[in-house]
Amino acid sequence: MLLSDYRPKSQLVTRTTRIERPRYPVIDAHNHLGESFGGGWNSKPLSQLLDVLDEAGVVEYFDLDGGWGEQILHEHLDYFKSRAPERFHIFGGVNWTQWGNLGEKFPEWAASRLRIQQQHGAEGLKIWKAFGLSVQDQEQELVSVDDPRLAILWETAGELSLPVIIHVADPVAFFQPQDQFNERLEELEMHPDWAFLSPPFPSFISILEGLASLVAQHQNTIFIGAHVGCYAENLAWVSSLLERCPNFYVDISARIGELGRQPYSARKFFLQHADRILFGSDMGPDLEAYRIIYRFLETDDEYFSYDPQEKPRQGRWNIYGIHLPADVLEKVYFTNAKNILPKERKNEQKNGDRNFVGPVG
Ligand SMILES: [Zn+2]
Repeated sequence: MLLSDYRPKSQLVTRTTRIERPRYPVIDAHNHLGESFGGGWNSKPLSQLLDVLDEAGVVEYFDLDGGWGEQILHEHLDYFKSRAPERFHIFGGVNWTQWGNLGEKFPEWAASRLRIQQQHGAEGLKIWKAFGLSVQDQEQELVSVDDPRLAILWETAGELSLPVIIHVADPVAFFQPQDQFNERLEELEMHPDWAFLSPPFPSFISILEGLASLVAQHQNTIFIGAHVGCYAENLAWVSSLLERCPNFYVDISARIGELGRQPYSARKFFLQHADRILFGSDMGPDLEAYRIIYRFLETDDEYFSYDPQEKPRQGRWNIYGIHLPADVLEKVYFTNAKNILPKERKNEQKNGDRNFVGPVG
């Protein structure tokens, strides 16, 4: 038998709690509606999508697909936002390929596009993991995430109260050799293009240090580190950045596999940073995917699959629920995401509400 065919079945007899609906209404702060995720929801009746979200208890949904370009941003604003404005928040993006054509003028141009995207209805900025890996300037040099030339872009996002959801690097294992020690070897063999062996790519930790310095330099801008601050394998690292920078938040999308295999540390992390963690799925509007995340957050069930199809896609382990208290659940499910949306932040600033946990200074 090949090792890849070996799928041992656990004989543990433990409780299975099925959470049909979350304890509080949910804002999904990291997800997609485009063709590559969830099967192209703008080609189906909108009511079908709203039915799934209603059944899942998801009342609002951040769609990050506008980060792929202004055409898709406009398609999604027209199809989803204009017809159900309270349910959807569509994020815009930066067209990095223009750096070569515009040269020195690029950063200012990118900031001006952001203003225009907001006028059309974008409610945030999505930055995909290209920094340090593929974004190039006019000299075809790789651009690091804290490159000072881009200050105007981040400051403009802060001025417009647009939160920036930023993903840098990838799982640590994707930067390591594909050998017998790599904990995500099977996944890398299925997706060879996900490997960023360093060198030639920058090291994982140098990219993460760039993120930390970016967030610290722009304290008037809210940054949401996607996938548990891009370093779910090391919650102490993420925790220390959250402590240093009140403008930093994280979403938990696509990482319950990581969080749930370190349940003691994860639970402590949620309790300690209850005001700064956002719910997110990243699996499209998928009912079963939502229910696994609810089970992870709400129950103390033991040793269950983090994947709706029970395939260990990310690595060969199972997860444990972290049974969060009600007040923490409410913040993670709803309140934290609500507070960082531009409309809410403007209201808070007007009312001078001191409960608002946001950037200082
Ligand atoms: Zn995503």
